[in-house]
Amino acid sequence: MTTHYEVDRSPLIAEHARLIGAATATVADPQVRHRGTFGGALAHADPAGDLLAPALAVEAEMVIAGPDGRRTVPAAEFFVDYFTTALAADEILVEIRLPKLTGWGAHYEKFNRVAQAWSIVAVGAAVRVEGDTIAQARVGLTNMASTPVRATAVENALVGQPATVESIRAAAEHAAEGTSPGTDSNADADYRQHLARVLTGRALVAAAGG
Ligand SMILES: Cc1cc2nc3c(=O)[nH]c(=O)nc-3n(C[C@H](O)[C@H](O)[C@H](O)COP(=O)(O)OP(=O)(O)OC[C@H]3O[C@@H](n4cnc5c(N)ncnc54)[C@H](O)[C@@H]3O)c2cc1C
Repeated sequence: MTTHYEVDRSPLIAEHARLIGAATATVADPQVRHRGTFGGALAHADPAGDLLAPALAVEAEMVIAGPDGRRTVPAAEFFVDYFTTALAADEILVEIRLPKLTGWGAHYEKFNRVAQAWSIVAVGAAVRVEGDTIAQARVGLTNMASTPVRATAVENALVGQPATVESIRAAAEHAAEGTSPGTDSNADADYRQHLARVLTGRALVAAAGG
């Protein structure tokens, strides 16, 4: 029941879950953000939706309630296919648990043709910088497959590297690995993979502090 507006304005989200807040701020327009909900967006599971990849990247957990009680499903198992989740027909999503990534930098880089439209491709990035080094990194890709994609090759290439534009751009070259984007009137698969690399670089540079 938590609207995008409430997520966007929450001081707790701003302090502990900045990537979710950053992605939520890009969803549609103020009218939609006042009506649409975080849980509804995840349960709907549109791969072009902006909250799925960030939820996957930060390792959110979904609490699902049904006739047999409650169960907790990690985001990595929640998104099953296009518009399909681990929710059974007689279950509802009642909680989304977000681990605290306090002190991490975060950025959501969304590419669309007109303001307030759905993502053609988007990238959510969160990084924890220690001194001059990237200590931890999380990257999630929107609209690069039938489900959100975690860019683990990028994450692995980043950890332990200096937080420089050069090393970030080199790691971002791995962004399309393991993706299987579709083709539609907005973009073909090759172009989406190109976008994934470019947007990953931009998102990571911004998350690491520019
Ligand atoms: C004009 C427009 C533009 C939009 N642009 C964007 C955008 O740019 N980016 C983006 O990410 N999203 C966008 N959206 C989606 C919007 O953000 C909503 O999150 C989305 O429409 C879901 O709405 P809702 O929360 O009211 O869920 P509903 O529409 O009520 O539900 C969606 C589906 O999920 C099911 N459901 C809902 N809640 C639960 C639950 N708790 N447990 C189990 N099943 C549940 C419903 O039965 C339904 O099948 C846009 C929507 C509109 C109308």
